[in-house]
Amino acid sequence: MADTKYIFVTGGVSSSLGKGIIAASLAKLLQARGYKTTIQKLDPYINVDPGTLNPYEHGECFVTEDGAETDLDLGHYERFLNVNTSQANNVTTGRIYQSVIEKERRGEFLGKTVQVVPHITNEIKRRIQLLGKNGDYDIVITEIGGTVGDIESLPYIESVRQLKWELGEHNSLVIHLTLIPYLSAAKELKTKPTQHSVKTLMESGISADILVCRTEHEIGDDLREKLALFCNVKKEAVIQSIDASTIYDVPNLMLEEGLDTITLEKLALTNNTTPNLTNWNKFVNRHKNPKSEVTIGLIGKYVELQDSYKSILESFIHAGAENEVKVNIKSIHSEFIDIDSKKKVEDLDGILVAPGFGERGIEGKIEAVKYARENKLPFFGICLGMQMAVIEYARNILKIEDANSTEMDEQTKNPVIDIMESQKNITQMGGTMRLGAWDCELVEGSLIHQVYGKTKISERHRHRYEYNNKFKERLEEAGLVNSGINPQTGLVEVVELPNHPWFIGVQYHPEYKSTVKSPHPLFISFVKAAKEYAKKRKK
Ligand code: GLN
Repeated sequence: MADTKYIFVTGGVSSSLGKGIIAASLAKLLQARGYKTTIQKLDPYINVDPGTLNPYEHGECFVTEDGAETDLDLGHYERFLNVNTSQANNVTTGRIYQSVIEKERRGEFLGKTVQVVPHITNEIKRRIQLLGKNGDYDIVITEIGGTVGDIESLPYIESVRQLKWELGEHNSLVIHLTLIPYLSAAKELKTKPTQHSVKTLMESGISADILVCRTEHEIGDDLREKLALFCNVKKEAVIQSIDASTIYDVPNLMLEEGLDTITLEKLALTNNTTPNLTNWNKFVNRHKNPKSEVTIGLIGKYVELQDSYKSILESFIHAGAENEVKVNIKSIHSEFIDIDSKKKVEDLDGILVAPGFGERGIEGKIEAVKYARENKLPFFGICLGMQMAVIEYARNILKIEDANSTEMDEQTKNPVIDIMESQKNITQMGGTMRLGAWDCELVEGSLIHQVYGKTKISERHRHRYEYNNKFKERLEEAGLVNSGINPQTGLVEVVELPNHPWFIGVQYHPEYKSTVKSPHPLFISFVKAAKEYAKKRKK
């Protein structure tokens, strides 16, 4: 194929309509037709990346192989496409301005006044086209965060206008995602908000090529015609996106609506294949027809907000399908876990202690580890969850009662978890953690070795603190098995317990690598252990 084609996805009427899922679903269909497709997210906020954001702001921070801290939509892209993303796939206004300002300081603008148009828009256009440059992709889908009409989005919308013009006919298109609200008093779906948002887009010089309409009720023919008429699109380009019971249904729903067909037509790309979704549909079938259920307690301090642990929840869906079991997630706030009364934990088949930062809620996490260890309940600790498992073991088995992490108590006399040497002189908080993919060697014959079926693995990271090797020997003598080590630094990445059916803590984040095509072995194995536990519990 000659030049890369560009698809822009904008949003109107309301936020949270699921642009990321629509983009990922379209990409899936194009990929399933043999087109090499990638997705990029442009975020209009001024943070250079979401790494410094509290999960309450935009949910989980997703980490890529190359160590970029990115928007959680990149997680959906990877889970749908099974293709890695990178720093280039997520760009924020902060990063755009940072590059332009650095260039200005180097004197590269040769005395010119630096302005939003053309300098900021040029940088945005450069970043969009970066992904298409090396011929790696036939199609690049760029999702513009925010809603049309927002002050923050203006430079992005202007860049799309310019690019559409520069790329020429059939080389780009704009998909506008809007909401068709249902007024129950009038028993009617309403198109006016969509008309207005399409108009707002037009005021910026962009006409939408395809409308994707989020709705809770079927959009009839009459409404499609009306939308087509008022919004300057063909009737076939009015695509209904009805609420689905699972995001994994959306590619098939978009296929039925012909979103891929109209896209190919508008981009003048051949459309003589049918998308091959065989494996995808096998997964969806297994996911929807489980043979049994398990309940996993997710212990964290951001549990009120489902988006905070997005990748973990999705990994459980993949692993559940693999085990033909429905994984019910019971979110338990670590500050209010109340282990003594057992009320919140007695119906669990497994406990996952989540990643996190800071002191709040950690005693509850330690209590949860103890409960899982003593009751032989499957236990999975991720990052902070693994660190809590080490502290619990040191306190309750080694009897070092004040064992702690220097993250929680800088002065602790027994820092079983300590700040990494390489982190000690760091003053800037953004993008400075130990990030991205690092190697780990698993100990032969360990449970984790059995789980992966190999000894050399690579997983993604995001942390500043680590297992303190000064305590390694004592912890080992007391029975803790250090079964995964970074070969370069000796950093302990995995701990496990031998006299327990399934007790594993990992310093890395396996949840970032689980996809529909390749569910993560740790989640598969953990859910399997929970399934066995559930069988016994129910007897
Ligand atoms: N706060 C811990 C650290 O920085 C764990 C981080 C995490 O769970 N992602 O090491």
